[in-house]
Amino acid sequence: MSEQVLRFTRDLWQRATGPQEDLALPLKAAALRERRRFVTGLRWASQWFWLLVTIVIGAQFVRWVRQIEQGVVGLDRPGGVEAFLPLSALLSLRHLWETGEISPVRPAGFVIFLAVAATGLLMKRAFCSWVCPIGTASEWLAGLSKRAFGRLLSLPRWLDLPLRSLKYLLLLFFASAIFWTMSGADVALFLDSPYNRVADVKMLYFFEQMSPFKGKVIFALVVLSAVIPYFWCRYLCPYGALLGFLSLLSPLKVTRDAASCIDCDLCTKACPSRLPVAKLARVRSDECIGCLSCVAACPVPRALRVETPSPWRRAVRPAAFAVVLLVLFGGSIVAAKAAGVWRTNVSDEEYVYRVQELHEPHYGHPR
Ligand code: SF4
Ligand code: SF4
Repeated sequence: MSEQVLRFTRDLWQRATGPQEDLALPLKAAALRERRRFVTGLRWASQWFWLLVTIVIGAQFVRWVRQIEQGVVGLDRPGGVEAFLPLSALLSLRHLWETGEISPVRPAGFVIFLAVAATGLLMKRAFCSWVCPIGTASEWLAGLSKRAFGRLLSLPRWLDLPLRSLKYLLLLFFASAIFWTMSGADVALFLDSPYNRVADVKMLYFFEQMSPFKGKVIFALVVLSAVIPYFWCRYLCPYGALLGFLSLLSPLKVTRDAASCIDCDLCTKACPSRLPVAKLARVRSDECIGCLSCVAACPVPRALRVETPSPWRRAVRPAAFAVVLLVLFGGSIVAAKAAGVWRTNVSDEEYVYRVQELHEPHYGHPR
């Protein structure tokens, strides 16, 4: 096992820094297979890593809440759990805009939000296909379903297009409420409200105390994600909408060199977002999730690469792409922790007394 990891790391380093084979010639079948395996393996390693991080954070958080419920303090609350409170992060962004200060209630969630946005600004929606555990679960579910039933559904264009705009409408709804309807004072009040101060615990109870209605909605989403790849990410996720919007500005995009392209169409067939890659000069679409499946499928290495825009036109190899994403996302979190912008100002003692009175009306969502 350790030898395999060593070999993979050495391969990763060589591919990120060393010379490559003649990029203008089609690869031989074995070399193409190996290249596909390498790029898929890179993404798979990244997805597993972040999924395991999420599971560990979830398990630590559940243990911490059980302890708080007993009125005991001592365990560390994992700040990463705030990644699942994106509305609070959006409110923190408005608060920063208004006051120039980071709200101390959910700083970890805000840092994660900024790190995710930074990945969208630089490298398309790569966060969705390399990091996000919901994207990973969605992709694996679709893979399982394809193996079981032999095919997946893809919605006709007349239905796909309006459904894709749903996530933008959701984002617009939240953004307009936070940036237009609410005043700066409203935002400050919300951030410091009893609801927001225990929003992480309330989120856990939301999933633990599953009503039949909530259960049916979640079940429907799981089934839809199993038969329609990336259903949640493609049609409903407001985070995906934000990234899609930011990704239009991204300098790193999959770029096709028409002179080297042999028109085999393999890239289009490999694209999970159903983009006509083989017909595009540069993939600008907000639906590109930066998965590099098209790049891995292309038999001519120079024909399809991730590139910076002209006039600089520098190719970024898949290994370097993965490293930049890891450093950008993981590094932002490490830097924020080192700078002391991570821990909430809600003390464990405050959690203990608030958790006892969660049933009271002032813990409802502020209107
Ligand atoms: S296959 Fe290529 S074009 Fe399609 S989503 Fe992935 S990176 Fe974007
Ligand atoms: S860019 Fe697409 S169509 Fe052109 S060679 Fe590569 S996989 Fe084939």
